[in-house]
Amino acid sequence: MDPFICPICGGKLNIRIGADKAECDSCGKLHEIDAADVARYREVYSSAEHAMRQNTAAGYADAIRQLQTIAFIDEARDKIKECKQRLIELRASRFQRQEANRLSDRRNTRLGIVLLILTVLLCAAALAGIVYLIVRWVQGTLSKGTVITILCVAAAAVIVSVLGRLFAGRGSDS
Ligand SMILES: [Zn+2]
Repeated sequence: MDPFICPICGGKLNIRIGADKAECDSCGKLHEIDAADVARYREVYSSAEHAMRQNTAAGYADAIRQLQTIAFIDEARDKIKECKQRLIELRASRFQRQEANRLSDRRNTRLGIVLLILTVLLCAAALAGIVYLIVRWVQGTLSKGTVITILCVAAAAVIVSVLGRLFAGRGSDS
């Protein structure tokens, strides 16, 4: 005998999770369900609920796969619908996160380029300063102010290049 068909009128039996009787859609008569089946439906259903609680795409896919084995039960079909909806939402929020990451990567790249240009400029200035120092040294016309200015530029070049390296390190972490 088909457990989902009313033996009296041939109507569909409405099975409910955890209930040991099913009501016929057509004649309204209650029919006993096999206790082992009741237990099995409940087990599949709660296992699917457990998978859903992971709140991951894999969890929902697993829940759907399990619920499809008892899809003749209305509650299982409702749960499958719920899982599919949650999957859509998960996909949408993942897409938003990727978009946000892409935007912040672009910002990081732009900042990195600015720092690189600054480093190159300051290194060139420091190099020019050193050449200038050597020329003045040879000529014997070195002033204190000139030495301090050139040392400051060299220090700035070092600081900016260190900052640039720190920044590049952070960029590759994210
Ligand atoms: Zn019936």
